[in-house]
Amino acid sequence: MRVLVLGGTRLSRQLATTLREQGIAVISSLAGRVADPLLPPGEVRIGGFGGVPGLIEWLRSHPVDAVVDATHPFAAQMSSHAHQACSVLDVPLLGLRVPSWPPGPGRAWVGSLDEAATRVAARTFLTIGSLGLPAFAARPEWFLIRSVDRPPVLPARHELVLDRGPFTVDGELRLLREHRIELLVTKDSGGPDAKLHAAAELGIPVLLIARPVLPDMPVATTVADAVRWLL
Ligand code: NAP
Repeated sequence: MRVLVLGGTRLSRQLATTLREQGIAVISSLAGRVADPLLPPGEVRIGGFGGVPGLIEWLRSHPVDAVVDATHPFAAQMSSHAHQACSVLDVPLLGLRVPSWPPGPGRAWVGSLDEAATRVAARTFLTIGSLGLPAFAARPEWFLIRSVDRPPVLPARHELVLDRGPFTVDGELRLLREHRIELLVTKDSGGPDAKLHAAAELGIPVLLIARPVLPDMPVATTVADAVRWLL
């Protein structure tokens, strides 16, 4: 069996590792957004396919038995392209993504980054990825911003932390206390998340950007379920 894994997430790397251990050939695909990506084991291709036609072309010249869309839940365009291309070629497609975070005290969801930008506090911790920052660029408030690479656009008053997880609850508690954070704004990425635990412990409210609507496809939430589906 040969599987294309659309990646860029921790789950996608775990899936590639597990598939290889089971002797299943896997090609992982990354968008090439970050300068120094964490690479899964095995074959990796980097860069966009060139829209739906490009992905169809790629799948024709690199036949696979299945595609697993293990991209981040906010990578809606890639998911849509995968859905369209796999439908045209009749290639089985599975989504692999962790469930959204459940409601909890101090947690509220907003529909977009623009909406979140209208609800920031005097001192807000933003962990939304560097591409989402233009929505906050004109805000006069102060921000603590954490991203993997240096963002191209930043609000005027900020402190930038270039870092990549996994993070610990103790580390997040320190960061939140040290910067006297009043609000955390993040994407509803799901999965284990130290910053949400730390915010809850300190009574700091959390604004979560709701996930975009994704195309209809079977979805696994664990690597084990994805492997079962593939087999
Ligand atoms: P997106 O908006 O859904 O996709 C934009 C374009 O980037 C796609 O049309 C495709 O280009 C290319 N692309 C995206 N993912 C790709 C992949 N795995 N392999 C090859 N090409 C890919 O995606 P995004 O939100 O910019 O995310 C880009 C990558 O970062 C994804 O791999 C995602 O898993 C990861 N990531 C995203 C977030 C987030 O918050 N969005 C967070 C963490 C990680 P073509 O049309 O040319 O094929």
